[in-house]
Amino acid sequence: MRKILVTGGAGYIGSHTVRALLDRGCDVAVADNLSKGYRENVPAGRLHELDINDGAALSELMRQAQFDAVVHFAGYIAVGESMREPGRYFENNVGGSLSLLSAMSEAGIRRIVFSSTAAVYGNPAATPIEEDFPIQPLSPYGESKVIVERMLRWFDEIHGIASVSLRYFNASGADPEGRLGELHDPETHLIPLVLRAAITGEPITIFGNDYDTPDGTCIRDYIHVNDLAQAHILALEYLMAGGATEQFNVGTGAGYSVMDIIRAVEQVTGKKVPYVIGPRRPGDPAALVAASEKLRQTLRWKPEYRDPVTIVEHAWNFARRRGHGR
Ligand code: UDP
Repeated sequence: MRKILVTGGAGYIGSHTVRALLDRGCDVAVADNLSKGYRENVPAGRLHELDINDGAALSELMRQAQFDAVVHFAGYIAVGESMREPGRYFENNVGGSLSLLSAMSEAGIRRIVFSSTAAVYGNPAATPIEEDFPIQPLSPYGESKVIVERMLRWFDEIHGIASVSLRYFNASGADPEGRLGELHDPETHLIPLVLRAAITGEPITIFGNDYDTPDGTCIRDYIHVNDLAQAHILALEYLMAGGATEQFNVGTGAGYSVMDIIRAVEQVTGKKVPYVIGPRRPGDPAALVAASEKLRQTLRWKPEYRDPVTIVEHAWNFARRRGHGR
């Protein structure tokens, strides 16, 4: 049985991946400081409440168990916040990853799957985005992920730690059985906010409808969180089989506009979504859609949920169960 350490396993994508790993029969330990994650997202007895910046605590955990690999989610995720407080992003995302990699090399753990982001591409020259497009992040958040990807190459070269960086597009949806879902505080992501507008009747602001897209609103590649979790499982299997350091986009290859999402929410909830048109949000590219052939071909990944209505349905089941925010 594989022993896997998951950092940030109490968060949104981390907690779905922990379930997928357990379903696969892995033995999973979660390291999370609960600054953003939720204790109830982690199955009993698996949570180690620690900060990955605490190298001594990490080393101690790695001494107690012989981990075969690490899946590294722990990090801050808000682009807008990173534009106001860049230092926090470099400290937590870069510093935390460095602390983790140092502890891994000391403990002899030689495989890691890393949460990267489509934000490494900034405003891409073309769509769909391929992995070898220029790396030109537009925010400290994106830059922090680029720096870690670069560190990973050197930790491979020098310490033999093989890594897979998964560049996520728009993670969305929820566990179809409704046990887990998306809960950020504050919530900034489109689907939970549109659901909240449908429930409360308070209008959501659409950030611009004058983009060069068919309906004028931004287009994104919404990837179901369970399909994202599966990409981590496949990446781990690839590394366990001796696969070399790689970077992959994780997106479906299909783009939907903000208005498409609003219509999907109206269809699923049977409620009218009130909205107002606001100014563009700084740093938002018109369209971000993944080329996903590399992941499909190399890791044999195949998304199960491609329809935004299904994604919204799962998010709605969770939102109804939990209330629409904290
Ligand atoms: N968006 C919006 N209103 C909101 C939140 C998001 O119009 O209140 C738009 C945003 O401009 C982007 C899309 O929805 O085009 C997805 O945004 P989100 O923050 O969910 O993810 P991002 O693409 O920034 O990673």
